[in-house]
Amino acid sequence: MSKRDYYEVLGVDRRADDGELKKAYRQLAMEHHPDRNPDDAVAEEKFKEASEAYAVLSDPEKRSQYDQYGHQAVGGGPGGFPGGQGFGDVGDMFNDLFGDLFGGAMGGRGRRAGRGQRGADLRYDYPIDLQDVLDGHDATLELAKTVACETCSGSGAKPGTQPERCGRCQGTGQAIFQQGLFRISRPCDDCRGEGSIVRDPCSGCRGSGRTEGTKTIKVPIPPGVENGMRLRVGGQGEAGISGGPAGDLYVVIHVRDHELFEREGPNVHLEVPIPFVQAALGAEVEVPTLDGKVMLRVPEGTQSGKMMRLRGKGLPAVGASGRGDQIVRIFVEVPTSLTERQRELLGEFADESGTEISPMARGFIDKLRDLFD
Ligand SMILES: [Zn+2]
Ligand SMILES: [Zn+2]
Repeated sequence: MSKRDYYEVLGVDRRADDGELKKAYRQLAMEHHPDRNPDDAVAEEKFKEASEAYAVLSDPEKRSQYDQYGHQAVGGGPGGFPGGQGFGDVGDMFNDLFGDLFGGAMGGRGRRAGRGQRGADLRYDYPIDLQDVLDGHDATLELAKTVACETCSGSGAKPGTQPERCGRCQGTGQAIFQQGLFRISRPCDDCRGEGSIVRDPCSGCRGSGRTEGTKTIKVPIPPGVENGMRLRVGGQGEAGISGGPAGDLYVVIHVRDHELFEREGPNVHLEVPIPFVQAALGAEVEVPTLDGKVMLRVPEGTQSGKMMRLRGKGLPAVGASGRGDQIVRIFVEVPTSLTERQRELLGEFADESGTEISPMARGFIDKLRDLFD
């Protein structure tokens, strides 16, 4: 059974450099990724094929062997996977290439010998006012978390000394043994999978490389954030173990309710009460917006419930230009206590109106008639 040439699989020239390989692979992997093509055997096969090709060609040593001797040299016989190392390599490769895109959901995240263990991710719930959603702002967050030990800069070794390479696993951190057909690997006992051993532990952290502490950071909150949105701040989670990379911080946005405005996506809604006389005669009314007060022209004969739109007075969307609108809903208010004189005037108004019926009332009366006649 023959096998496609790795360069052909990736669609690159034999002299392609690392950048070109990476680019070609990234494109193919995105296209054929199983998450995007569920239950598609062809896509899965192409995805595996591309991953295999990239795993070999991105490794200078394997690549030169492959160039000279072909598939057999790199253990990639028909159907096999190069080097017999299983998919661990692909997992790491993936995180390098797609960590950001898939949010680290590819699993197998970076436990590599000699690099220690990645710190835990942290969550920070951040309440924000609607006004700040409009402009965005710099949040100052005080984080109580494990931080890299200052004395040893996180290595766990006493200053002036270095962690030693583990002799048992030759620094790989993995103990490998054969069981039947399978090669099984588990963390090395001597170094607990670290690949190195601290002989002279740092006194500041007892060799863990981490201490409890607080850290104050500034996180720019972009305009337009919505309730429940998560902002990822790389490397601001808990410190890594034994010099491993720090975890990430996730800032979860909670938008506080506003006294006046109600948000609906990029639009804000506001109910404005106006006296019935102004609604009847028309008026200029002062209306609050997120940018301050504006004058709104209410035409004569405005009914309760009428909606008016203030263009561009709403909120932006994250990463987009332009703003939504403010929707003003007019509420016509009838006076609840009248002076003697006001009562007299309204009486005159009623006499003047006589039996005249307004259009809305007429519509209502017509419907009643249809219903009962
Ligand atoms: Zn230390
Ligand atoms: Zn070891």
